[in-house]
Amino acid sequence: MFEIDEKGIRILGTSFWLDAERVVPLSFVSHAHADHIRNHKQIIATPETISMFELRRKKVDAIPLEYNTPYKMDGATIELFPSGHILGSAQILIEKDGVRLVYTGDLNLRTSATAAPAEIREADILIIESTFGRPEFVFPKRYLVIEQLVKFIDKCFARGIAPVILGYSLGKSQEVIKILGDLDYQISVHSSIYKMLKIYEQYGISFKNYKLYEGEDLRKRVMVIPPHIKNWLGKRYRGEICKAVVTGWAMDPRAKFRYRAHTAIPLSDHAGYDDLIKYVKQVSPQKVFITHGFSDFTHCLIREGFNAAPLRPSSQISLF
Ligand SMILES: [Zn+2]
Repeated sequence: MFEIDEKGIRILGTSFWLDAERVVPLSFVSHAHADHIRNHKQIIATPETISMFELRRKKVDAIPLEYNTPYKMDGATIELFPSGHILGSAQILIEKDGVRLVYTGDLNLRTSATAAPAEIREADILIIESTFGRPEFVFPKRYLVIEQLVKFIDKCFARGIAPVILGYSLGKSQEVIKILGDLDYQISVHSSIYKMLKIYEQYGISFKNYKLYEGEDLRKRVMVIPPHIKNWLGKRYRGEICKAVVTGWAMDPRAKFRYRAHTAIPLSDHAGYDDLIKYVKQVSPQKVFITHGFSDFTHCLIREGFNAAPLRPSSQISLF
């Protein structure tokens, strides 16, 4: 059904790869995070992903596919459906020779204010990401995470300190800005986040109370910047600041040190351990392959009675 080579996962008997890691003639691109985009000759993706891909890279020859719209190609039927991770993120169902394969891309099964809710399809073969596939990554309920975020900000305001939220420029920042804008906080954002907000708005997601940062006083505003440019603000703002990183890794007590933040808040756009297990049970596959994450999630699935293995390079996999 598929094989793994140095470029990634290729569907046998067809001309396409799944989130190929090197440049290929044709790849399905599950979403526009930097680790999933390369300068392929042609891509298959949702219109939202294509827009973000082009903002991050360059104009691309693309086959745009809306969610839940089957498309015939090279003797296979493919269909994209929401993965709940970020705007436009998609899983793909491939039906070929009577076998159904689902590849999740990055997956989130919790509520999001800015991504379509993940859907679940039954399949014979499942290739699933396992970023948080360890029992310590069971995330708190969403309202508790939001409460933590709000408490952090209000405490900063009370002390006359600027609250700075570190969140990836695509996905996490938009989720935080949507949550905080709807709670009537005033927000300033870094330009990389601002550009992505504009694409979200083109696709009908509305945000309140935000502006591009232009040196304003931040003692009553929330500043949102990507984690990797945390020194950028120090050169532009002289007042005292306090940083919180929003990430699923916050479940690890060392996360705040890794991100050099004062605190870490577990707002995740990936599924936690419990959700991953629940998801696999609902897909009910004959064979599960684990990619992108803890390979010991394989053992957890085997204990649950699944035929599971890590996805390894240079292997050909067929079910029958
Ligand atoms: Zn991602």
